[in-house]
Amino acid sequence: MKTDVLLIGSGIMSSTLGVMLKELNPALSVQLYEVTEKPAQEASNGWNNAGTGHAGICELSYTPNQEEDGTVDVSKAISVFEDFEYSLQFWAHAARRGIIKDTRKCLTALPHISLVHTEEQVPYLKARYEGLKKHHFFEPMSFSTDREEIADWAPLLMKGRDQEQPVAATHMDGGTDVNFGEISRSFCQWIDEQENCCTQFGHRVVDLNKETSGKGWIVTVRNEETGQKEKIYAEFVFVGAGGGSLPLLQKSGIPEVNGYGGFPIGGQWMITRNPDVVAKHTAKVYGQALGAAPTMAVPHLDTRMIDGKQSLLFGPFAAWTGKFLHNGGSHFDLPLSVRPGNILSLMRVGMHNLDLVKYLAGQGLQSKESRMRELRNFYPDALAEDWEVIDAGIRVQAIKQEPGEEPGIVHYGTEVITSADRTISALLGASPGASVSTQVMLECLQRCLPHLLESDEAKERMTDMIPNWNNDLKVDSARNRYLEIHEKAMANLNLI
Ligand SMILES: Cc1cc2nc3c(=O)[nH]c(=O)nc-3n(C[C@H](O)[C@H](O)[C@H](O)COP(=O)(O)OP(=O)(O)OC[C@H]3O[C@@H](n4cnc5c(N)ncnc54)[C@H](O)[C@@H]3O)c2cc1C
Repeated sequence: MKTDVLLIGSGIMSSTLGVMLKELNPALSVQLYEVTEKPAQEASNGWNNAGTGHAGICELSYTPNQEEDGTVDVSKAISVFEDFEYSLQFWAHAARRGIIKDTRKCLTALPHISLVHTEEQVPYLKARYEGLKKHHFFEPMSFSTDREEIADWAPLLMKGRDQEQPVAATHMDGGTDVNFGEISRSFCQWIDEQENCCTQFGHRVVDLNKETSGKGWIVTVRNEETGQKEKIYAEFVFVGAGGGSLPLLQKSGIPEVNGYGGFPIGGQWMITRNPDVVAKHTAKVYGQALGAAPTMAVPHLDTRMIDGKQSLLFGPFAAWTGKFLHNGGSHFDLPLSVRPGNILSLMRVGMHNLDLVKYLAGQGLQSKESRMRELRNFYPDALAEDWEVIDAGIRVQAIKQEPGEEPGIVHYGTEVITSADRTISALLGASPGASVSTQVMLECLQRCLPHLLESDEAKERMTDMIPNWNNDLKVDSARNRYLEIHEKAMANLNLI
């Protein structure tokens, strides 16, 4: 069998690329292979991630500590906001085109709040707010140290809190809770309905070999039920296999993967479904990282809307794991990914991030009472009987020793690795993750399949999908254009 494009995995990345490509060039043939029986059962599944539409509004990890002059550098938060804007626009296009049929299953509008509660953090949050507020993306943001006002925004945060404790919060409407799994499902279903396309579930990609002529790939896929193997010729392969991407890339033998390792970090949530508690909190509230906590384990208290039901999630609590995937992953995934080219990076991560490794081991073994103590930093009156611990997804962080960089740095970013001839591309890493899926897949398309964007018609199609795909919305002069595009997208998505 032959296909123009072969996508591995049915999470938010592959499914986004599939829709984008097919919308750009309806003549393309696209095949998507997924090992699980249903779409988006790994990191993109609603229960496996926090569902935060990361827009830099509430996540303090995007804004470092105050500079000597008291200001806070907000540039990263501004660019994260713009990256997420790509996703909002693309999903709005999908809603207009009927690709996403029910936006309410996919996105919920929620205020995004940052909360701090120590003497040192209050001036930091104020300086952060002052930096952000000047930018048109963050104009609607408010800052307060007034307990009553903060209680109005999110009552659970203030009830029962020590009156002597200094507190401050920022609040902004227009944030989102996103069910990335539901968006992936809509995208997969639509891809399957298109001409020259199909999605195959229960099919594992087991090998990737360069075609002997040097163009394209022979991809071996195994039907998990029958054990039967099939070889497919693909001109372009996207490895969007989440935690399964590194082992597949290693099988492809492309030199670009040399030196990369994967460092899995498991996770858990605390959840309450008590309707009385759930009804009192309608926001995503982020705090600050404690001690050696990696940025992705900064605690937050989130309203979640999954499968039509509202709940309250707190976490994530990071945990040590050797597995790269939830479904069918094995504790040997990490040792089996070790190669002569990445063993040094992996050993250095162990040696130079001992605090992180100890933190992960400790978090996994934490008692419920110790988790409740962390929760009470946000919700002082929380009762243990209302909360239970559930598993979250696994993030496999990409590790690579960069020349001139301190050894053993764990990169929390998302890395797209592409072969020199641009016939295969893969995504490693998982932060900021699903929120930037549109921007990352657009970049992949521009890098690997630039000919698809050459014609005026293609450019017009892309502008319809992502109106600001070749414009900068960050600059001051783009304020009015941003407001116009943003409001249209929010309306299409039923978020205003
Ligand atoms: C605890 C946690 C919290 C997070 N919170 C957020 C958040 O709030 N906001 C945010 O934007 N992001 C968040 N993320 C990150 C986000 O979930 C991921 O970046 C994103 O879902 C990755 O999507 P993906 O398509 O690359 O991978 P996945 O969704 O993992 O999809 C990969 C797919 O490939 C399949 N697969 C694997 N191997 C094979 C094979 N050999 N053959 C065929 N199929 C294969 C898998 O079964 C899976 O379905 C979070 C992640 C975690 C773990």
